[in-house]
Amino acid sequence: MPLIGHCHCGRNAFEVDGELPQMLTRCTCSFCSKRGHLYAYYPPDRFKVTEAPSDAVYRWNTKQVANHFCSACGCDLYADSPDFQRDGSWDGKTRRIAVNARPVRRLRSRRLAGDGHRRQAPLVNARAKSRGVSGDCRTGRA
Ligand SMILES: [Zn+2]
Repeated sequence: MPLIGHCHCGRNAFEVDGELPQMLTRCTCSFCSKRGHLYAYYPPDRFKVTEAPSDAVYRWNTKQVANHFCSACGCDLYADSPDFQRDGSWDGKTRRIAVNARPVRRLRSRRLAGDGHRRQAPLVNARAKSRGVSGDCRTGRA
């Protein structure tokens, strides 16, 4: 059974052939930290857009990452990105999809570490830095 996600108004939706990983990435780059993304990564052949009449794209910095969101309700859905490695390198061709797990139906019943008053648990991949919790979306540069 695929993962199904959609924006608040329902105009945009997607499916993922896979499961949510045990750990999600809470990115702290300058864009993601303002939007509150929780990312799960998949190869493009496991991801499918099923509804997109209100799809809009935001690109910044290198313009290599397409951040897809709903132009009607504003919810962030996914990013189509180069498959950046931890050291920032990229082979120049491999892509990946960073799915924002927040609109995924199955996530709503799971508990998240440090994510609001009702949610606690080990779903967030956050690396501790000297001033609190951090992470890296690997979809762009902070
Ligand atoms: Zn919407």
